[in-house]
Amino acid sequence: MKALKRFAALILTLALCLTCAAGMAEMVDPDVQAIIDRGVLRVGVKNAVVGFGYQDTLTGEYSGMEIDIANAIAEKLGVDVEFTAVTAATRGELLDSGDIDCVLATFTITDERKESWDFSTPYYTDHVSVLVEDASGITGLADLVGKKVGVSSGSTSARSLVSAMIDAGLIDGASFDKATFDPALWTDGVSFQQYDDYPTISIALSADEVNAFCVDKSILAIYHTDGRSYISEEFAPQDYGIATKKGSGFSAYCEEQITAWLADGTIAGFAAAYGLN
Ligand code: GLU
Repeated sequence: MKALKRFAALILTLALCLTCAAGMAEMVDPDVQAIIDRGVLRVGVKNAVVGFGYQDTLTGEYSGMEIDIANAIAEKLGVDVEFTAVTAATRGELLDSGDIDCVLATFTITDERKESWDFSTPYYTDHVSVLVEDASGITGLADLVGKKVGVSSGSTSARSLVSAMIDAGLIDGASFDKATFDPALWTDGVSFQQYDDYPTISIALSADEVNAFCVDKSILAIYHTDGRSYISEEFAPQDYGIATKKGSGFSAYCEEQITAWLADGTIAGFAAAYGLN
């Protein structure tokens, strides 16, 4: 009888443990739960980067692989999605203020940025290039010596260009410090004019206010109109990741989805749908 009681107690304990384990497995992180409870995933995206984040001016509809990834995450969470157009200068602040839950906006993963935000495994890698007016006669990095280049505030572009010019032996680079580099102060071999958005840089290029426009090739594409060309070089690989608030439980959720979708071909499918590879 005693043995039977002990056996019954053991079975009961086992059953309790199993119930607990099942409960834990279903436990949703509070940061993820907050999005589910709100019923809307708020995502910062680009609105003029064809193939990544592009908003049709007539219909207001967004398209691009970053839009597809955002929609897929929202679907997985079982919530709606709300897009906010961001720039290189605004995306970090909007994440910090809690206005958006994540950024899917050609946001390059860098060591410095990782100190401020969490980033997922990269879902795409682009390169930096330079767009010029054909009439300028500029065709390569060497022609940029002594020129003024338009870049976006808050972007990696100026630093990438200086680094590429140093590697090409066009600038000696003795004063270059990756960590403290400031485009506004740099005058060694090339100088920079910073702008808040890309349309303004494009206008400045037409107006000869700057001699060249430097950023990721994906972003330059829409400004590559007749009478303009890319220089021959592209450089500085740009790994795009989903950025989330540092330490948020939602970071791990995004990472889980991205790694699964990279492994099963979902991300490659999104890229292919926009002719990206
Ligand atoms: N991808 C680059 C960066 O994160 C270019 C800027 C941009 O994304 O607008 O700095």
